[in-house]
Amino acid sequence: AKAAGKRQWSRYQPQLQAGLVERHELNESLDTAIAESAFALYYQPIVDLASGDLVAFEALVRWPHERRGMVLPEDFIALAEESGQIVPLGAWVLERAVTEATAWQKLSGDRRTAGGRLPLRVSVNVSARQFRDAGFVDTVRRVVESSGIRPGTLILELTESVLMRRDERVRTDMRTLRDLGVRIAIDDFGTGYSSLSYLREFPISVLKIDKSFIDGLGLSEQQYALVEGITRIADTLGVQVIAEGIENDAQRQLLAAMGCPLGQGYLFARPLTVEQAGALVQGDADL
Ligand code: C2E
Ligand code: CA
Ligand code: CA
Ligand code: CA
Repeated sequence: AKAAGKRQWSRYQPQLQAGLVERHELNESLDTAIAESAFALYYQPIVDLASGDLVAFEALVRWPHERRGMVLPEDFIALAEESGQIVPLGAWVLERAVTEATAWQKLSGDRRTAGGRLPLRVSVNVSARQFRDAGFVDTVRRVVESSGIRPGTLILELTESVLMRRDERVRTDMRTLRDLGVRIAIDDFGTGYSSLSYLREFPISVLKIDKSFIDGLGLSEQQYALVEGITRIADTLGVQVIAEGIENDAQRQLLAAMGCPLGQGYLFARPLTVEQAGALVQGDADL
């Protein structure tokens, strides 16, 4: 898995903000890609920091484009959000990730249960626009029911921008999702108008501490204290913490020492192809 992860994607120049023509062109080819489900999902391992065990995968979308190469989400997600194309694209991502995860759970389920561990989880990014769409909760329900996935193994990653709105719809939808058994994570915690009160106000199960905090861990006392404090409070509230963007072993050790349970980052693995992820699940490859 490590060697495969070394591969670097060719980036095209993200000048799409500049040209209307190019924007239009990109929207059109996004439409085609959505119609043809011409996207690829990559899966980044989330590991137990104490044991090193694989506990989950975060699904990350890419767009293999004939002229542009492998287009990364930062170059089309914002555009798809603006146009609303994120709604069908996001539904595809959810369906695909859940289908894959259900298959992996079947492969690894017995072995993991025998070891007393939870079944493999899958974490899916949901943009604010997608969450606000009137059909979102129904899409989640349909995907959960048709796949037969154990709902508790599905995590939906929302950013703080969703919670900031504090409107009744957000609350109702989050309650419905909780009643379905699906878990909700706050993604990129610390980058927006973060408030630990979200953890009290909303049914949040997981908090993902943004990479920018992890970067600073070994650099200053304050940064360490901040991450430790967040981890402690989350733990007290029964919220599980995932540290994002762990790149070196010093960071891993500091996090494990402060009791942060889970982490992800290039130190463990880059986002993997579905085949590479499957090999990990089956034990044909190691982290
Ligand atoms: P994110 O949700 O914060 O995902 C983590 C990003 O950090 C991923 O970039 C991942 O490849 C990268 N990463 C993971 N570990 C490390 C590390 O150790 N070092 C560094 N430098 N980077 C690391 P990616 O795949 O390019 O995704 C970027 C963003 O695009 C995601 O940030 C997420 O906000 C969005 N995104 C990706 N897939 C989807 C999707 O299916 N739907 C939606 N709505 N957004 C998505
Ligand atoms: Ca995420
Ligand atoms: Ca994140
Ligand atoms: Ca991010």
